[in-house]
Amino acid sequence: MPSLLEVDDVTVVFGGNRALDGAGLRAERGAVTGLIGPNGAGKSTLFDVICGLRNPTTGTVAIGGKDVTKLGPARRARHGLARTFQRLELFGRLSVRDNLLVAAELGPAKRKAAQVVTEIIERLALHHVADHSADELPTGTARLVEVGRAIAARPHLILLDEPAAGQDHTETDRFAGLLRSLADDGTAVLLVEHDMGLVMNVCDELYVLDLGKIIASGPPSVVRSDASVLAAYLGEV
Ligand code: ADP
Ligand code: MG
Repeated sequence: MPSLLEVDDVTVVFGGNRALDGAGLRAERGAVTGLIGPNGAGKSTLFDVICGLRNPTTGTVAIGGKDVTKLGPARRARHGLARTFQRLELFGRLSVRDNLLVAAELGPAKRKAAQVVTEIIERLALHHVADHSADELPTGTARLVEVGRAIAARPHLILLDEPAAGQDHTETDRFAGLLRSLADDGTAVLLVEHDMGLVMNVCDELYVLDLGKIIASGPPSVVRSDASVLAAYLGEV
């Protein structure tokens, strides 16, 4: 069976600058796959390519064995893909509950949106802020709501771009549990994150991007001692 997500040989050029240069990766059902690398490495750009917001100069994206390279973001969402953004994209004046409801109503019609929202509020422990407007939330909590919006659509593949930025230790620990439980439900989770504690603890596989190229991949315990990875991060951590 092919991997749920297969990305091959992706190149993206901005002006004369290669933001991605032949990058590829795999994400499996039931696993948390990490994508790490210094600022400007191309991580968010690769997410844009995977979800169809940017056309690559070269390369292919396949979901569930189907080539989706030519499909737009809405069609890819229908193939079970959801993502969060590094820059938060909540509806600021809507309550947390209504932000989740808008997303749930876009999900599979089989399930009642209100029921999905109740389950997500429970799962993410958002009761205490459910009726607060999104723009009142601390960043860490707002990121959790954004993840809630992404899972409301019941994706097979979820891309999370720095979801733990702005979370405190307690929130990050709870978040690690959430990522694990999403994977245990059979979802493929692809995680861009700077918190190395979280990445090492929760990822099954790890890819390292530097200057648009994947320079290392494998289990976190192997990748963390790779010489080229240490060199890419020198001065960063
Ligand atoms: P990361 O998410 O790993 O920090 P990005 O994917 O945001 O990296 O950026 C990769 C490179 O592409 C950087 O050099 C960045 O300046 C450049 N870049 C990103 N988006 C654009 C854009 N819309 N136009 C021009 N250059 C961009
Ligand atoms: Mg980024």
